[in-house]
Amino acid sequence: MIRINENYLKLQASYLFSDIAKRVKAFQDAHPDKEIIRLGIGDVTQALPKACTDAFHAAVDEMAQDSTFRGYGPEQGYAFLREKIANEDFQARGADILPDEIFVSDGAKCDTGNIQEIFAGDIKIAIPDPVYPVYLDTNVMAGRTGTSKDGRFEGITYLDSTKANNFVPDVPKEKVDLIYLCFPNNPTGSTITKSQLKKWVEYARENKALILYDAAYEAFIQDSALPHSIYEIEGAKDVAIESRSFSKTAGFTGTRCAYTVVPKTCMAYDKSGNTHALHSLWNRRHTTKFNGVSYPVQRAAEAVYSSQGKVQVKSLISYYLKNAGLIRKELMALGFDCVGGDNSPYIWVDCKMDSWKFFDLMLDEAGVVCTPGVGFGRCGQGFIRISAFNNYSNVEKAMTKIRKVIG
Ligand SMILES: *Cc1c(COP(=O)(O)O)cnc(C)c1O
Repeated sequence: MIRINENYLKLQASYLFSDIAKRVKAFQDAHPDKEIIRLGIGDVTQALPKACTDAFHAAVDEMAQDSTFRGYGPEQGYAFLREKIANEDFQARGADILPDEIFVSDGAKCDTGNIQEIFAGDIKIAIPDPVYPVYLDTNVMAGRTGTSKDGRFEGITYLDSTKANNFVPDVPKEKVDLIYLCFPNNPTGSTITKSQLKKWVEYARENKALILYDAAYEAFIQDSALPHSIYEIEGAKDVAIESRSFSKTAGFTGTRCAYTVVPKTCMAYDKSGNTHALHSLWNRRHTTKFNGVSYPVQRAAEAVYSSQGKVQVKSLISYYLKNAGLIRKELMALGFDCVGGDNSPYIWVDCKMDSWKFFDLMLDEAGVVCTPGVGFGRCGQGFIRISAFNNYSNVEKAMTKIRKVIG
């Protein structure tokens, strides 16, 4: 008898985005003539930078000639891309990361979801609340939790991100083994300072723990004092794995390219207490289960680091940050407390009522779709997330509509 992995039954069906879709559809059916502006999505809207599409086209042409055709590439990524990443994203910021510590992949979602399989089944996990659901759900699937009660899984240490800590959780009082952190944060848009991040690195070193640092929104950082990488913190190379993505940086959500850094000095332990390099474990996993990102996509990603690419990516980020700035300014003028939107594309708004109630008000009265904060965790209740991924004119229109309802 073929049997299922019953851990899947523990997952609360994620009703968030299907719930949103249902409510939007009901509104559309009832008011077919009313315009709807979507500020709920976590997907980019603007085209790929020209430097990337030029490199993409040229690489496709190489694939069309026997003399330049490429079959399977290295699973870890082509050297041309890994070298650019190491130099531009890390060495240039004083973080001593080498090309062979970089694993190119088809997404930070897959990497942050898959990484847990190289660790023991009974390690203790710490996960922020609210959170990007991938970190939690993949550990539930792997059987590292009990069942869910009142929206929280048994066996997980939740790191509350609230107004009281300015949406940057402090290190836990108890001992945990694997910690997920994401800055600039999705969904709250909050950022972490070097001294706050240093506390986490120290905690991990003292407790022989590991930090999984998701820096998918790194490119949105404007404040020069903020760390772009966890490896800017001394000692982090021994206790942290970092994931990045070209998705939000350069519009690669539909093109697919990301990478994970596993420094060779990053260690974990077997049950006898012997150390093992995580680099070799992840390399084994990656080469067994993954066959590399396509050559043209890696060439397109490489172009992000060209001089034209850099200018174009910067202007893409500025475009979204201009939207974010407008959203933030307008909502604050209406008397709402907000975080994010300055170094991130998300604005986390204290809506002063139930998340879903505010969602319905925005949809029914203003025709604007946002994301109810409670969908990201219990601490998200009373908040909504507004995304800056849209056209500026739509954002302006949405803000005018919201002003009419609230103002
Ligand atoms: C969008 C996003 C990613 C990127 O995922 P890809 O699979 O690379 O597209 C990773 N982490 C977070 C928190 C995100 O919001």
